[in-house]
Formats: sequence, structure tokens, C-alpha cells
Amino acid sequence: MKKNKIPMRRCIGCMESKPKQEMIRIACYEGALTLDTTGRAKGRGVYLCRNSECMEKAKKKKAIQRNFGTAVSQSEIERIWEELSGE
Ligand SMILES: [Zn+2]
Repeated sequence: MKKNKIPMRRCIGCMESKPKQEMIRIACYEGALTLDTTGRAKGRGVYLCRNSECMEKAKKKKAIQRNFGTAVSQSEIERIWEELSGE
């Protein structure tokens, strides 16, 4: 029998693994960040829980910079946080 495994992803804020569909994906493609609401945006992605606590945690430890490195500019990161907090 085949088990229906729920895809899990690790949050860049709290570092806990949670079902993918409960999370926000941030995709990085050619230096641009996208709030990936469909889960199909191009590029590498990181995941975040849908709460402000994890957002703050990720911000504080510069989790986006750590994951995407120098591919993303600081202003782009600030823009995506603004977009996220406006959700
Ligand atoms: Zn989290």
C-alpha cells in the first residue's frame, strides 16, 4: 500500500518542519525575490510559517541572506519583508 506522505518543509525562522501547504514560499530567481503563493514560482525557494513570529526570527538571523547568499541585494530582501508583513 502506498502511503500519502505530506510534503514537509523546514521554516527558516523556527527551523521546524511543517506541511508545505501551511507555509509561505519565498522564491529567488536571478536576484529577484517573489512571494510564491502558488508554490510554482521559478528559482530556489525557502519556506516560512505563516506567522509574524517566524518572520521576525528569520529577519533577525538574516535567514534569507544565508540561504541565497550574495545573489540577492539587501534592498530586495527589505522589499520582500515589507511585502510579507503586509500579508
Ligand atoms: Zn516557523
